[in-house]
Amino acid sequence: VTNRVHIRFLSLPDNVGLARVAIAALAAQAHFSITELEEIKVAVSEAVSNAVIHGYRGRTDGWVEVSAELDENRLTITVEDWGVGIEDIDKARQPAYSQDPERMGLGFVFMETFMHGLEVDSTPGQGTRVRMQR
Ligand code: ATP
Ligand code: MG
Repeated sequence: VTNRVHIRFLSLPDNVGLARVAIAALAAQAHFSITELEEIKVAVSEAVSNAVIHGYRGRTDGWVEVSAELDENRLTITVEDWGVGIEDIDKARQPAYSQDPERMGLGFVFMETFMHGLEVDSTPGQGTRVRMQR
């Protein structure tokens, strides 16, 4: 299967579910099991909610873009925002690290566990791009 999807949406919390459903529908075109589809959905939700919550700090007028490529049953997902960016990516990726004491700091852990080759690129003041494969 070969397919390409780009979705661009405003940084509204409700759009996390929109992105999750869209990417799950794409992934369902490939030979992923129900469990794998659930894991992919969690990874997408974590990346998109990070863009909304951290990238735009609750502002709802920022753009979030999710791109997905399906090639020979390999799925590559990119989630990008043009928000505040990440100062220290290594620190941000550490298990249980969060800038918010109310949070678990497990989003990147889920993405790493459920996907392969998680890459995080970020520039403070410019935004963040997360890329992952399954
Ligand atoms: P949880 O995901 O468990 O609710 P969390 O979002 O804080 O908590 P992670 O998803 O692992 O944990 O992210 C770790 C930290 O990385 C965040 O607290 C935040 O400081 C930073 N971060 C992650 N994504 C972004 C982003 N898109 N823009 C800016 N900062 C980010
Ligand atoms: Mg998170």
